Amino acid sequence: MTRNPGTAGRQVAWLRRKYGDWCWLCGKPIDFTITDIRNPLHYSRDHVIPRARGGSSSRENLRLAHRGCNSRRGQQSPVTAPEWPFSTEPELPC
Ligand SMILES: [Zn+2]
Repeated sequence: MTRNPGTAGRQVAWLRRKYGDWCWLCGKPIDFTITDIRNPLHYSRDHVIPRARGGSSSRENLRLAHRGCNSRRGQQSPVTAPEWPFSTEPELPC
């Protein structure tokens, strides 16, 4: 085994286990049965610290978000979504 974060699919599976099927930006559920990637309700991986600001692409810097929420947020620095029900503090992997 390596410390490689792995494929996007593995990252998504890890994020779902860790945080559940929730958009971290709007706090609403994410429907993983949506298969049309152009659908703004499709899931995406959002960077807590945007890559443009030096954030890493490791899973500890990723959260699940709707595509629409992700693109609305853009390159802004870590968002403070009042509805966000979970901690945004990155935790070390188990
Ligand atoms: Zn959302």
